[in-house]
Amino acid sequence: MLDKGEEEHEVRDVLLVEDSLIDAQLIRRLLRRVTASYYRVTHVCTLNDAVLSAEDLVPDVILADLNLPDSRGTQTVASLQTSYPDIPLVIVSAWEDEAISLQSVKAGAQDYLVKGHIDGANLHRVIRYAIERKRTELELVRLAHFDQLTSLPNRTLLRERVDHALARAMRAGSGVATLILDMDRFKEINDMLGHEVGDKLLIEAARRIRASVRDQDTVARLGGDEFAVVLEGVSEAKEVLPVIERIIKSLSEVTSVDGHEVKTSTSVGIAMYPENGNNLSELLRAADLAMYQAKSSGRGRYRFFADAMQEEAQSRHALEWALRRAVERKEFELFYQPQLCLRTGMVIGVEALLRWMSPTRGLLTPYHFIAGLEEFRLINDVGEWVLQTACEQIRKWHMMDFEPMRIAVNVSAQQFEDPMLIDKVRSALKETKLPPEFLELELTESCLMSDPAQTTALLREIRDVGVRVAIDDFGTGYSSLAYLHEFPLNALKIDKNFVQNVESNDRGGPISQMVIGLGQNLGLEVIAEGVETEAQLRYMREHGCDVAQGYFYARPESPEDLTPWLKANQRVSETYVRSIPVKKRTDETGT
Ligand code: C2E
Ligand code: CA
Ligand code: CA
Repeated sequence: MLDKGEEEHEVRDVLLVEDSLIDAQLIRRLLRRVTASYYRVTHVCTLNDAVLSAEDLVPDVILADLNLPDSRGTQTVASLQTSYPDIPLVIVSAWEDEAISLQSVKAGAQDYLVKGHIDGANLHRVIRYAIERKRTELELVRLAHFDQLTSLPNRTLLRERVDHALARAMRAGSGVATLILDMDRFKEINDMLGHEVGDKLLIEAARRIRASVRDQDTVARLGGDEFAVVLEGVSEAKEVLPVIERIIKSLSEVTSVDGHEVKTSTSVGIAMYPENGNNLSELLRAADLAMYQAKSSGRGRYRFFADAMQEEAQSRHALEWALRRAVERKEFELFYQPQLCLRTGMVIGVEALLRWMSPTRGLLTPYHFIAGLEEFRLINDVGEWVLQTACEQIRKWHMMDFEPMRIAVNVSAQQFEDPMLIDKVRSALKETKLPPEFLELELTESCLMSDPAQTTALLREIRDVGVRVAIDDFGTGYSSLAYLHEFPLNALKIDKNFVQNVESNDRGGPISQMVIGLGQNLGLEVIAEGVETEAQLRYMREHGCDVAQGYFYARPESPEDLTPWLKANQRVSETYVRSIPVKKRTDETGT
């Protein structure tokens, strides 16, 4: 949020793009009315003049009419965006039209004002918010492209780079090698020597990988201890062998970090374009599979996809068969993890988390089977069972004298695309007699952003049923703020990677604060997931987060185990919660 005190004296440069001299005069007067020396206005009458000014003008904000002598409607927004990509834009238009206003915001404007309905204070506030919102958006774009720890491109930027590399390779008729590198036993080192040593090790690994390849090759961090390398202009698999060997060797050399001599090894999987895939997703999947085969054959090795395929086909077959049988035999169970209100310490809900009781492998977490359920298109059936069972369970708890809690249910992309989803939700509510406001669906950003128009329609239907919607793992995908504005949502869940890093390094904190700020701006509840320590809890509470969930309170448990916990703890977290000061929220509409 902006701090009023420090802001009042700043001079702001405004670029006013307005062909009507009377309107321009009016806006100048409105701006002057707020404080005398506050805004410095540069006025141009045409889009062309505005575009030409971009060379030597860096305004803090642009106020523009949509209709100019040389441009009309959203064309104006698009051109200004291109010329001033980093500058917030507020449209001041004569049209009071919801559709045009929405189109302008979608095209990238931060806000839309209607002439004749503006006063000085209101204009001043809109400008402030537009600046703040643009700053957040740019920061999100930056965060969305680079890994904060190693400064390497992240998955999103990798995608862009690979798209270009593949296009070039296609024109040149050459090949591209995609490597996935995964450090062996990194988790052990991290747990044993601490996050700081782990982080430094990752930074050093990033440096060594970079040093083992040519400048034009792309090195990206995929997350955790996983890196990707993309090598262009290779025609045969064996051409990349020297590079792979160089990387493996340099990563196996001892690193000394904070007085510790650390020795690691790295497993590598390789996929080739065009043989193993035509786009990044296919290539990464192939390389990943090869990497796993490399790992399971011993550490510090590499595998090409083609060779790994043989071995994998068999185990995939086995997984498919086991999952189909699991669906038939109803081997799935739901565990539940409490969510606590950070202001009152009350349990306000639980998240349902799927488990598979495999007859051969024991109790398994989703990591081992969700991708399989999706791949073999079994997730819709299992998801329907999850909805039904979760609603049933929460009703049971409602009936046992607890304060009413909501149930959060994870919905995967395939379920979101299922035309029957709404009906399934309705029927689960109906059969269990659960009032809709107690059900919250958790959807991921990528699932929502894949077709925003359809998403909006579907979310409206869900809202009309009365069910809540939360964005899960927020901050890990890319959300356009314009859409976020438009989707009917109830909550944002800060991804646990950020929550767990609020203190150990510099990325978690700023992102968490930004998500909280964003939530407050949009009137959404903010939930921190994966809270493991009191320090993380304190941080979330101090920064105005509404709800927390994580091992610090409770692990996901079976209903049998959670019931006594609920009895004992429905309010005990109060002791923790009460001892920490609350940050006052700018709005009190939250929980
Ligand atoms: P998620 O939705 O992000 O769920 C949170 C995950 O974090 C859960 O993992 C939970 O056990 C774990 N977790 C909670 N608190 C902590 C903590 O303090 N520290 C750490 N390190 N982890 C914590 P889980 O149960 O293994 O589930 C993994 C993912 O599988 C979920 O991630 C969700 O995306 C998916 N999933 C789970 N149940 C379902 C389901 O019924 N349907 C669908 N489609 N996906 C599900
Ligand atoms: Ca979730
Ligand atoms: Ca999550």
